[in-house]
Amino acid sequence: MRILIAEDEEKLTKYLKKGLEESSYVVDIALNGMDGLHLATHEAYDLIILDIMLPEYDGLSILKDVRNAGIKTPVIFLTAKDSIADRVDGLNIGADDYIVKPFSFHELLARIRACLRRSSHKATSELTVADLTLDPMTRKVFRGKKKIELSPIEFSLLEYLMNNAGQVVTRTMISEHVWDSNFESFSNVVDVHIAKLRSKIDRDFDLKLIHTKRGAGYVIEE
Ligand code: CA
Repeated sequence: MRILIAEDEEKLTKYLKKGLEESSYVVDIALNGMDGLHLATHEAYDLIILDIMLPEYDGLSILKDVRNAGIKTPVIFLTAKDSIADRVDGLNIGADDYIVKPFSFHELLARIRACLRRSSHKATSELTVADLTLDPMTRKVFRGKKKIELSPIEFSLLEYLMNNAGQVVTRTMISEHVWDSNFESFSNVVDVHIAKLRSKIDRDFDLKLIHTKRGAGYVIEE
């Protein structure tokens, strides 16, 4: 899961990035409003955390632009402004939650999880492609009746493919969602993990589910 934080207090961003990375999230930081807007509209995130009072461009304007661009990514406001009017403004223009500073990291983490759960019920219900099933809650994977053991990275990769079943996902999309932003996009890491996944998911079965689209990426489908 990839998260964007637009926040100008550098110390706070470092603290949040470290904490969220320890919880296995991939985190990008924008220290001003224009960078925040650019990243929010040009990169793919699962969640955006926005400060309201940001240099160059404020968080409410960023959210308006993001929603006007048709981007439905859940947004949590993180701000020192605590008046009722600000909260109402934020929620009215499409924020999903609102946290007032100072806050505890554990509260933020709980709100992030709740927000991600609400934003995609896919994330809590079983994913199925042909006789392959993946349960995001129990983290169990079956091909027919055969239980398949996956490493955490293979599980994330398969979950991403199955969430996009029938659609081609590029190596860049995979690296953005499954690995962190320091990922070397010219490396063959994606291919290596796909090969490992295939050996577990497809090798012993007549019906192959993971397909290579030459020059484009991968797709999982019957
Ligand atoms: Ca600020």
